[in-house]
Amino acid sequence: MELKITVLGSGTSSGVPTIGCSCEVCRSTDPRDNRLRPSILISFSGRNIIIDTTPDFRAQVLRAKIARLDAIVYTHGHADHILGLDDVRPFNYHQGGRIPIYASRAAFAIIERMFAYVFDNRERKTHIPQLEVNLIDETPFDVFGLRFEAIPLAHGKDTTFGFRFGNVAYLTDHNEIPESSLDRLRGLDVLFLDALRHRPHPTHSTVEASIETARRLQACRTYFTHMCHDVGHAATEAMLPPGVFLAYDGLEINVAS
Ligand SMILES: [Zn+2]
Ligand SMILES: [Zn+2]
Ligand SMILES: [Zn+2]
Repeated sequence: MELKITVLGSGTSSGVPTIGCSCEVCRSTDPRDNRLRPSILISFSGRNIIIDTTPDFRAQVLRAKIARLDAIVYTHGHADHILGLDDVRPFNYHQGGRIPIYASRAAFAIIERMFAYVFDNRERKTHIPQLEVNLIDETPFDVFGLRFEAIPLAHGKDTTFGFRFGNVAYLTDHNEIPESSLDRLRGLDVLFLDALRHRPHPTHSTVEASIETARRLQACRTYFTHMCHDVGHAATEAMLPPGVFLAYDGLEINVAS
Protein backbone atom coordinates (compact mmCIF):
# COMPACT_ATOMS: atom_id res chain seq x y z
CA MET A 1 0.00 0.00 0.00
CA GLU A 2 1.25 3.49 -0.90
CA LEU A 3 0.83 6.05 1.88
CA LYS A 4 1.15 9.78 1.43
CA ILE A 5 1.76 11.73 4.62
CA THR A 6 1.14 15.48 4.53
CA VAL A 7 2.28 17.58 7.47
CA LEU A 8 -0.66 19.89 8.18
CA GLY A 9 1.02 21.56 11.14
CA SER A 10 4.47 21.29 12.72
CA GLY A 11 4.16 23.92 15.45
CA THR A 12 3.68 23.85 19.17
CA SER A 13 0.43 24.73 20.97
CA SER A 14 0.68 28.47 20.32
CA GLY A 15 1.87 28.14 16.71
CA VAL A 16 4.72 30.05 15.07
CA PRO A 17 4.75 33.02 14.75
CA THR A 18 3.56 33.39 18.31
CA ILE A 19 1.07 36.18 19.02
CA GLY A 20 2.84 39.33 20.22
CA CYS A 21 6.38 38.01 19.62
CA SER A 22 8.94 39.74 17.44
CA CYS A 23 11.82 37.24 17.78
CA GLU A 24 13.90 36.29 14.76
CA VAL A 25 11.95 33.09 14.02
CA CYS A 26 8.55 34.77 14.44
CA ARG A 27 9.68 37.47 11.98
CA SER A 28 11.32 34.95 9.60
CA THR A 29 10.42 35.09 5.91
CA ASP A 30 11.29 31.39 5.49
CA PRO A 31 7.86 29.74 4.98
CA ARG A 32 9.14 26.70 6.92
CA ASP A 33 9.20 28.89 10.05
CA ASN A 34 5.43 29.36 9.76
CA ARG A 35 3.95 26.55 11.81
CA LEU A 36 0.30 25.77 12.46
CA ARG A 37 -0.65 23.46 15.31
CA PRO A 38 0.48 19.78 15.07
CA SER A 39 -1.40 17.42 12.78
CA ILE A 40 -0.81 15.11 9.83
CA LEU A 41 -2.93 13.79 6.98
CA ILE A 42 -2.56 10.15 5.89
CA SER A 43 -3.82 9.46 2.36
CA PHE A 44 -4.09 6.02 0.77
CA SER A 45 -6.43 4.26 -1.68
CA GLY A 46 -8.66 7.34 -1.91
CA ARG A 47 -9.02 7.59 1.88
CA ASN A 48 -8.00 10.53 4.07
CA ILE A 49 -7.30 10.07 7.76
CA ILE A 50 -6.28 13.02 9.94
CA ILE A 51 -4.40 12.71 13.20
CA ASP A 52 -5.81 15.38 15.58
CA THR A 53 -8.11 18.32 14.82
CA THR A 54 -6.13 21.39 15.85
CA PRO A 55 -7.44 24.93 16.36
CA ASP A 56 -6.10 25.47 12.80
CA PHE A 57 -8.05 22.52 11.37
CA ARG A 58 -10.14 24.62 8.96
CA ALA A 59 -7.13 26.52 7.61
CA GLN A 60 -5.16 23.28 7.30
CA VAL A 61 -7.92 21.50 5.40
CA LEU A 62 -8.35 24.42 2.99
CA ARG A 63 -4.61 24.83 2.49
CA ALA A 64 -4.09 21.12 1.76
CA LYS A 65 -7.27 21.05 -0.39
CA ILE A 66 -8.69 18.06 1.51
CA ALA A 67 -12.03 17.32 -0.15
CA ARG A 68 -13.11 14.37 1.95
CA LEU A 69 -12.37 13.12 5.43
CA ASP A 70 -12.80 9.46 6.30
CA ALA A 71 -11.60 9.29 9.92
CA ILE A 72 -9.92 11.18 12.75
CA VAL A 73 -7.43 9.58 15.12
CA TYR A 74 -6.57 11.42 18.35
CA THR A 75 -3.25 11.38 20.17
CA HIS A 76 -4.65 12.99 23.36
CA GLY A 77 -7.11 15.58 24.59
CA HIS A 78 -5.04 18.76 24.83
CA ALA A 79 -6.52 21.91 23.31
CA ASP A 80 -3.96 22.19 20.50
CA HIS A 81 -4.99 18.70 19.29
CA ILE A 82 -8.79 18.80 19.50
CA LEU A 83 -10.22 22.33 19.26
CA GLY A 84 -10.92 22.30 15.52
CA LEU A 85 -13.39 19.41 15.76
CA ASP A 86 -16.49 21.53 15.08
CA ASP A 87 -15.17 22.25 11.57
CA VAL A 88 -15.81 18.69 10.39
CA ARG A 89 -19.43 19.77 9.71
CA PRO A 90 -18.87 20.57 6.01
CA PHE A 91 -17.48 17.05 5.52
CA ASN A 92 -20.63 15.59 7.11
CA TYR A 93 -22.73 17.79 4.84
CA HIS A 94 -20.92 16.89 1.61
CA GLN A 95 -20.25 13.21 2.30
CA GLY A 96 -23.28 12.24 4.35
CA GLY A 97 -22.88 9.79 7.21
CA ARG A 98 -20.89 9.97 10.39
CA ILE A 99 -17.13 10.38 10.56
CA PRO A 100 -15.44 7.78 12.75
CA ILE A 101 -13.17 9.14 15.44
CA TYR A 102 -10.68 7.05 17.40
CA ALA A 103 -9.58 8.18 20.86
CA SER A 104 -8.47 6.71 24.16
CA ARG A 105 -11.02 6.77 26.98
CA ALA A 106 -9.10 9.63 28.63
CA ALA A 107 -8.88 11.69 25.43
CA PHE A 108 -12.53 11.10 24.62
CA ALA A 109 -13.60 12.21 28.12
CA ILE A 110 -12.00 15.60 27.40
CA ILE A 111 -13.46 15.81 23.88
CA GLU A 112 -16.90 14.96 25.24
CA ARG A 113 -16.63 17.69 27.89
CA MET A 114 -15.26 20.35 25.53
CA PHE A 115 -17.83 19.56 22.82
CA ALA A 116 -20.77 18.64 25.06
CA TYR A 117 -23.29 19.83 22.44
CA VAL A 118 -22.00 17.23 19.98
CA PHE A 119 -22.70 14.31 22.28
CA ASP A 120 -25.80 15.30 24.31
CA ASN A 121 -28.28 13.68 21.88
CA ARG A 122 -30.60 16.69 21.99
CA GLU A 123 -32.81 17.51 19.02
CA ARG A 124 -31.45 20.54 17.16
CA LYS A 125 -32.35 22.53 14.09
CA THR A 126 -28.72 23.51 13.54
CA HIS A 127 -25.85 21.40 12.22
CA ILE A 128 -23.41 19.82 14.65
CA PRO A 129 -20.61 17.34 13.89
CA GLN A 130 -21.88 13.83 13.15
CA LEU A 131 -19.37 11.39 14.58
CA GLU A 132 -19.02 7.70 15.32
CA VAL A 133 -16.96 7.26 18.48
CA ASN A 134 -14.45 4.41 18.73
CA LEU A 135 -12.60 4.06 22.02
CA ILE A 136 -9.11 2.67 21.58
CA ASP A 137 -6.50 1.14 23.83
CA GLU A 138 -3.26 -0.61 22.98
CA THR A 139 -5.10 -3.22 20.93
CA PRO A 140 -4.30 -2.55 17.26
CA PHE A 141 -7.24 -1.17 15.28
CA ASP A 142 -8.04 -1.03 11.60
CA VAL A 143 -9.09 2.15 9.77
CA PHE A 144 -10.22 1.40 6.19
CA GLY A 145 -7.62 -1.33 5.86
CA LEU A 146 -4.75 0.54 7.51
CA ARG A 147 -3.68 -1.03 10.80
CA PHE A 148 -2.89 1.36 13.63
CA GLU A 149 -0.94 0.46 16.72
CA ALA A 150 -1.21 2.87 19.67
CA ILE A 151 2.14 3.48 21.35
CA PRO A 152 1.98 4.89 24.92
CA LEU A 153 4.18 7.94 25.52
CA ALA A 154 4.84 9.95 28.68
CA HIS A 155 3.68 13.60 28.40
CA GLY A 156 4.37 15.01 31.84
CA LYS A 157 1.93 13.23 34.15
CA ASP A 158 -0.31 12.26 31.21
CA THR A 159 -0.06 9.40 28.76
CA THR A 160 -0.51 10.19 25.09
CA PHE A 161 -0.74 7.80 22.19
CA GLY A 162 1.76 7.83 19.39
CA PHE A 163 0.70 5.74 16.41
CA ARG A 164 2.49 3.24 14.24
CA PHE A 165 0.85 2.50 10.89
CA GLY A 166 2.77 0.45 8.39
CA ASN A 167 6.41 1.47 8.66
CA VAL A 168 5.56 4.98 9.80
CA ALA A 169 5.28 6.21 13.39
CA TYR A 170 3.90 9.58 14.48
CA LEU A 171 4.96 10.40 18.04
CA THR A 172 4.03 13.90 19.11
CA ASP A 173 3.64 15.31 22.62
CA HIS A 174 6.04 13.30 24.75
CA ASN A 175 8.93 14.04 27.05
CA GLU A 176 9.77 10.37 27.42
CA ILE A 177 9.20 7.18 25.46
CA PRO A 178 8.95 4.10 27.71
CA GLU A 179 11.35 1.24 26.87
CA SER A 180 8.40 -1.05 26.11
CA SER A 181 7.23 1.47 23.51
CA LEU A 182 10.70 1.87 21.98
CA ASP A 183 10.71 -1.89 21.37
CA ARG A 184 7.66 -1.45 19.13
CA LEU A 185 9.34 1.19 16.96
CA ARG A 186 11.99 -0.84 15.15
CA GLY A 187 12.33 -1.09 11.39
CA LEU A 188 10.61 2.20 10.57
CA ASP A 189 10.88 4.00 7.24
CA VAL A 190 9.53 7.27 8.65
CA LEU A 191 9.47 8.45 12.26
CA PHE A 192 8.05 11.71 13.62
CA LEU A 193 9.24 12.92 17.03
CA ASP A 194 8.31 15.80 19.32
CA ALA A 195 11.16 18.37 19.47
CA LEU A 196 9.76 21.48 21.13
CA ARG A 197 13.00 23.44 21.63
CA HIS A 198 16.55 23.13 22.97
CA ARG A 199 15.88 23.91 26.64
CA PRO A 200 14.31 21.12 28.73
CA HIS A 201 10.54 21.19 29.18
CA PRO A 202 8.46 19.13 31.67
CA THR A 203 6.10 17.68 29.05
CA HIS A 204 7.97 17.84 25.73
CA SER A 205 11.11 16.42 24.20
CA THR A 206 14.01 18.61 23.11
CA VAL A 207 15.86 18.71 19.81
CA GLU A 208 18.83 17.11 21.55
CA ALA A 209 16.83 14.32 23.23
CA SER A 210 15.03 13.53 19.99
CA ILE A 211 18.33 13.34 18.10
CA GLU A 212 19.29 10.66 20.63
CA THR A 213 15.95 8.85 20.15
CA ALA A 214 16.43 9.00 16.37
CA ARG A 215 19.90 7.51 16.79
CA ARG A 216 18.54 4.65 18.90
CA LEU A 217 15.61 3.83 16.61
CA GLN A 218 17.46 4.16 13.29
CA ALA A 219 14.42 4.90 11.11
CA CYS A 220 15.37 5.61 7.48
CA ARG A 221 14.06 9.16 7.89
CA THR A 222 13.20 10.98 11.13
CA TYR A 223 11.27 14.26 11.19
CA PHE A 224 10.87 16.57 14.18
CA THR A 225 7.57 18.31 14.91
CA HIS A 226 5.68 20.34 17.60
CA MET A 227 8.42 22.99 17.44
CA CYS A 228 8.28 26.40 19.08
CA HIS A 229 9.83 29.71 18.01
CA ASP A 230 13.17 28.83 19.62
CA VAL A 231 13.75 26.50 16.66
CA GLY A 232 14.62 28.28 13.42
CA HIS A 233 14.26 25.88 10.51
CA ALA A 234 17.43 26.51 8.49
CA ALA A 235 19.78 26.99 11.45
CA THR A 236 18.47 23.97 13.37
CA GLU A 237 18.34 21.59 10.44
CA ALA A 238 21.98 22.39 9.64
CA MET A 239 23.01 20.85 12.98
CA LEU A 240 21.02 17.61 12.61
CA PRO A 241 22.69 14.28 11.81
CA PRO A 242 22.12 12.56 8.44
CA GLY A 243 18.61 11.17 8.05
CA VAL A 244 17.12 13.58 10.61
CA PHE A 245 15.11 16.59 9.44
CA LEU A 246 12.71 19.20 10.70
CA ALA A 247 9.16 18.74 9.44
CA TYR A 248 7.44 21.81 8.05
CA ASP A 249 3.88 22.65 7.14
CA GLY A 250 3.01 21.29 3.71
CA LEU A 251 5.78 18.66 3.70
CA GLU A 252 4.66 15.56 1.77
CA ILE A 253 6.24 12.17 2.31
CA ASN A 254 5.46 9.15 0.15
CA VAL A 255 6.12 5.77 1.65
CA ALA A 256 5.32 2.19 0.67
CA SER A 257 3.72 0.36 3.55
ZN1 LIG B 1 0.55 19.51 21.74
ZN1 LIG C 1 8.93 34.41 18.65
ZN1 LIG D 1 -0.17 17.85 24.74
